Amino acid sequence: MEPHVALLPSAGMGHLMPFLRLAAMLASRNCKVTLLTAQPTVSAAESNHLNSFFPAHPHIQRLDFHVLPLQPSNPHDDPFFLQFRAIIRSVHLLPPLLSSLSPPISALFLDITAATCVDHLADDPSLSISYYILNTTSARFFSLITHLPHLTLEGSYKNLQLPGLPSFSLSNVPPLLFNPENLFTTQLISNARAISKVKDEKPAKSVVYVSFGSRTAMSKDQINELGEGLLKSKQKFLWILKSVKVDKVEQTGLEELLGSSLLERIKEKRQGMAVKEWVKQEEILAHPAIGGFFSHCGWNSVMEAAQTGVPMLAWTLNGDQRFNAEVVEKTGLGLWPKHWGWLGERLVKSEEIEEKILELMQDHKLRSRAQKVGEEATQAWEIGDHSSIHPFAPSIKMSDSI
Ligand code: UDP
Ligand code: UDP
Repeated sequence: MEPHVALLPSAGMGHLMPFLRLAAMLASRNCKVTLLTAQPTVSAAESNHLNSFFPAHPHIQRLDFHVLPLQPSNPHDDPFFLQFRAIIRSVHLLPPLLSSLSPPISALFLDITAATCVDHLADDPSLSISYYILNTTSARFFSLITHLPHLTLEGSYKNLQLPGLPSFSLSNVPPLLFNPENLFTTQLISNARAISKVKDEKPAKSVVYVSFGSRTAMSKDQINELGEGLLKSKQKFLWILKSVKVDKVEQTGLEELLGSSLLERIKEKRQGMAVKEWVKQEEILAHPAIGGFFSHCGWNSVMEAAQTGVPMLAWTLNGDQRFNAEVVEKTGLGLWPKHWGWLGERLVKSEEIEEKILELMQDHKLRSRAQKVGEEATQAWEIGDHSSIHPFAPSIKMSDSI
């Protein structure tokens, strides 16, 4: 199931161009993308670019966002700054627009000049999505923006020192920022305050990764119980599905495999993702958001979990996997509910799966034991000269301990 991401650029070409690049990049990487276009645009350059962008990227959906008109209180107000403000003032129109999108969106990218919209959107019950801010300026200037709420800019200093940055001359700071009443300054300060509320990532160790290797076929009934168990556990999940042994002959679509009701509920609850494709398992296991691995215990998978210290829930299918699950259990890397039998031997019910997923994700002792295995695996890895081979199998300590 491809994630659906919405993007809201702000006014001006310098803000639009990075969003168009991001939209094209996400669309080329298996994301469904909806680009919100604040209407009316300020400049002809923006509307011309949008009009040529969409035909060139037919997979990217256009959604017009009609912002409320804003009369300038001062005739010298910059029309682009006014549009930044108009977008923020129209934020209440966004939830109905965003929640009408199908499939439901999982993330919204906002321009730095509209970051304060998150204050409103994050509390809206119709939207349970992640928010990202696209910084359309340099890292150093972005750092200045994040410090603005706590800075008093006065002309008396020559240099400004911000944590983590080399000092820089105050003469480089745009003069408008010295005027706390200016529209540009007041908006930038409220956007800066909102940055800390943006969700970037799933919390650490909060996602269970579910994959039964490269050649495990699972019956539809068992897939259904597994999906229901994952939903009942209320844990976030990333589930890699396979319905046949050899991927070459795979013809079943995700909807057929999961059934439309389960698929709909997975989408609706936005609790997890089910995909039916090859993923980069090692990268997934190394991601800080992964807190557990529900696995068939192929030896490669065990080694990769050991290397990263990710606790495992074992459900063996065949071959050497019970020997491997025994290693998992004895080293403290994970849980092995032996009474489930071989995968496919009996239908393991959703309640049983829910219970073990919760244990996998919530047992702090298990987590620290697995972490210790990860540390030992890293040490074992460091002892040898492995510089020229791929880091797959730090098996020394694991096999020694049984
Ligand atoms: N740009 C362009 N043609 C022009 C003027 C500008 O393609 O005649 C593009 C330029 O490539 C850049 C953007 O518009 O991507 C302007 O962004 P920048 O951050 O350089 O400056 P700003 O317009 O925000 O001051
Ligand atoms: N793997 C992967 N992406 C997938 C499925 C599997 O990268 O979508 C990799 C996994 O990281 C492991 C190997 O394929 O290195 C599978 O080997 P394992 O011994 O765990 O199980 P098998 O597939 O042989 O049953």
